[in-house]
Amino acid sequence: MNILVINCGSSSLKFQLINSDSEEVLAKGLCERIGIDGRLTYQPAGGVKEVSEKAMPTHTEAIAYVIDALTNEDTGVVSSLSEIEAVGHRLVHGGEKFASSVIITDEVKKAVEECNDLAPLHNPANLIGVAACEKLMPGTPMVAVFDTAFHQTMPEKAYMYGLPYEYYEKYKVRRYGFHGTSHSFVSKRAAELLGKSYEETKTIVCHLGNGSSVSAVLNGKSVDTSMGLTPLEGLVMGTRCGDIDPAIMEFLAQKEGLDIVGITKVLNKESGVYGLSGGLSSDFRDLAEASSEGNEKARIALEVFAYRVAKYIGSYVAAMNGVDDVVFTAGIGENSCLIREMICKYLGYLGFEFDAEQNNKLQGIEGEISKEGSKVRVFVIPTNEELAIARETLALLS
Ligand code: AMP
Repeated sequence: MNILVINCGSSSLKFQLINSDSEEVLAKGLCERIGIDGRLTYQPAGGVKEVSEKAMPTHTEAIAYVIDALTNEDTGVVSSLSEIEAVGHRLVHGGEKFASSVIITDEVKKAVEECNDLAPLHNPANLIGVAACEKLMPGTPMVAVFDTAFHQTMPEKAYMYGLPYEYYEKYKVRRYGFHGTSHSFVSKRAAELLGKSYEETKTIVCHLGNGSSVSAVLNGKSVDTSMGLTPLEGLVMGTRCGDIDPAIMEFLAQKEGLDIVGITKVLNKESGVYGLSGGLSSDFRDLAEASSEGNEKARIALEVFAYRVAKYIGSYVAAMNGVDDVVFTAGIGENSCLIREMICKYLGYLGFEFDAEQNNKLQGIEGEISKEGSKVRVFVIPTNEELAIARETLALLS
């Protein structure tokens, strides 16, 4: 089955056409600047990447260009629209309503809309992508795969905040967690590498990218994760602050003369390793380079990042009463030997033995960075959210 995987943002749309039998990516690309002017990047497997300017006043035009590109006589990868047999959509927030992926119906769309308050930047954009596909591909089955669904197995003690209970009852203020598709995909693969049944493992997944989160996966189920009601909680990230004393908000509001919108912007866009490094960069490659050249703020930013990850790992060992393996994934986790080494330095108490040579070899490829005989094993596993969405779509439709 050929499955079109769509990840739709407010002004962009990423896509991949995946053959679910061979799990091969037939073509992939990106529409950018939707609603502004419009640019399509399209790359067929083994072919040349094309970038073209196209007028995309709405997501419907963007999807139409994607379909045109996929069915183009010369550079397309299918001969007609009918060869795209299903669409898998990434949806960010399913609230408490969705603990797994679902086939999209009118009822599902309504229920997702009811979660819009919880992800005002993402959910409405995701739904626009669904509507655009429905318009251009009527009758093609569509599946919603939620970022939050995997973490719906968290117990109350992990998801409740220490706030008045009425806010949970009235507004569903609780911890939800994100990156669920990635945490699920990578923890399943880790069980294979461990040679154990997924239902009998204690795995800690460190998804370290521009947005970062850690999760505790006990016997195949997420029991805790570092992001909360929104993706601002938890680790120190590229530009997001992660956990802070909430009283800082009022303190800074007064000192800097900011309102709640201004403070929220600082916490989301001007903090994290970007803020710590004095606005140098949110990219770990830049920070590593600057730190090696003696930039103190860059060094501090990297150390704060690694220390926070290590603290979360420790707390999840406690949550699961042990750990079999720790996994690094996403842009930083897959590629940065330096950050992995900095985090691994904290893990000796677990009986973990670090293989520095292996660590330096692994960039964007799967492998193990613990020595043979290490009590806890540590893996690098590239995440593949698009493939995970295609697998979920296939599973639901067959
Ligand atoms: P993601 O959000 O998963 O795409 O991750 C993006 C982040 O990964 C970038 O902002 C970089 O900080 C980081 N990254 C990507 N490649 C490398 C690399 N080779 N070394 C260090 N960090 C990297």
